[in-house]
Amino acid sequence: MQYDVIIGLEVHAELKTKSKCFCSCKNEYGSSPNTNCCPVCVGLPGALPVLNKFAVEQTIKAGLALGFEINRTAIFERKNYFYPDLSKAYQISQLEKPICINGHLRVFDKDIPINRIHLEEDAGKLVHSGSETFVDYNRGGVPLIELVTDALKEPHMESADEAIEFLTKLRQIYIYAGVADCELEKGQMRADVNISLRPKGSKEFGTKVEMKNLMGFKSIHAAIKYEIARQKEILDDGGKIEQETRKWDFDKGESFAMRSKENAEDYRYFPDPDLLAVEISDEDVARLKKSLPPLPDEIKKKYMSEYGLSEYDTDVILADKEIADFYEACLALYPQPKSIANWFTTEVLARVKGGAGLGISKENLVWLIKAVDEKKIQRLSAKEFLADIWGTDVNAESEAKARGIMADLSSDFVFEILDKVLKEKSSVVEQFKREKDEKILNFLVGQVMKETRGKANAQEVKEKLKEKLGI
Ligand SMILES: [Zn+2]
Repeated sequence: MQYDVIIGLEVHAELKTKSKCFCSCKNEYGSSPNTNCCPVCVGLPGALPVLNKFAVEQTIKAGLALGFEINRTAIFERKNYFYPDLSKAYQISQLEKPICINGHLRVFDKDIPINRIHLEEDAGKLVHSGSETFVDYNRGGVPLIELVTDALKEPHMESADEAIEFLTKLRQIYIYAGVADCELEKGQMRADVNISLRPKGSKEFGTKVEMKNLMGFKSIHAAIKYEIARQKEILDDGGKIEQETRKWDFDKGESFAMRSKENAEDYRYFPDPDLLAVEISDEDVARLKKSLPPLPDEIKKKYMSEYGLSEYDTDVILADKEIADFYEACLALYPQPKSIANWFTTEVLARVKGGAGLGISKENLVWLIKAVDEKKIQRLSAKEFLADIWGTDVNAESEAKARGIMADLSSDFVFEILDKVLKEKSSVVEQFKREKDEKILNFLVGQVMKETRGKANAQEVKEKLKEKLGI
């Protein structure tokens, strides 16, 4: 039987702020366990939360970047449940009046509707070691935005590929907007995925199955594919889908039932009596909108129309904001967008993706690109040279001069070599005179290049050779 697949996403991202959401503890990853905690964020009696205004502003900016409406009054509520990583036994969150409502995100050719973004606090972290479990409350109280897609509205996300494209674009927008770093390996962005199937063309929704706290796009992709196949098989066999939460085991490549899914009522939400409603003015929204830096779609247009880059090159450069910022910095020194892009999409990215980091200064890189453009260094030797100086702090120009890799075709040196090769390879020269074969000419050019150790310009050597051979 054929089915329509409906995928919903709940995406959590930790906001980039100096301090936590309701106290002045540091919002910092990697501190020693339980050092960024205070009576407020661990919920000791009598401690009162104070809202971090910057966290609200960051949430509004996230919403504006995604075309959301901003509620002028937002309310914080308590979501009550027990878990060892939540020492207060409730999480401050938002249910009835979130900060952002009704957004959308373009995924391939679909505008995927998004219901809301709300601001809440993160929980602590359980650290398992052997048979013991430790708890670190440093993360407890860190501001977290939760985005919820609206699977009740069309169009739907229908495949693992679409869900990953959604997450990739969302992550990119958050990073460019400066609201979150979304470092996946630090758990700064996590997603819950819910999936339901219904007979093709049916209007009624099938039973939803949720997979919680997925990290890493690879496991999210695998988990979605697995879940779609699992539900198909059950439905084909005439079975019923249980409403439940399943846990994805990345190593085994399968999911297993965790618990039957809870509903919002189960959490006994109620307005937090310690926190006032948040009033957001038109001026606030206008000011924050103005403060938004250029976002990926806008930059993409500029790269393609003004810089004349291909869509592929543009996407490759923009995929990583650090790379895109570095590209702009190089461009400011040497306004040749295409020439610089060529080096970025090949040499620079290969090194960064290979784990070597961004190990070159903009001055050195621009000097090298310019030298190649001006034919002062051969492209091939420039590439080798770049690999050598990557991760060092040498001055590219003096290093290149010291190594003698700068081309100098006007010098007698190259002419001497040319004559030498013509003399040594006289039989080849004779053969060329008879056969006029381009391949033989190229062989002679190669010999000259070898003698000059790549310093000369191959094209110019070829011209000189032709001249000497009277062509
Ligand atoms: Zn605190």
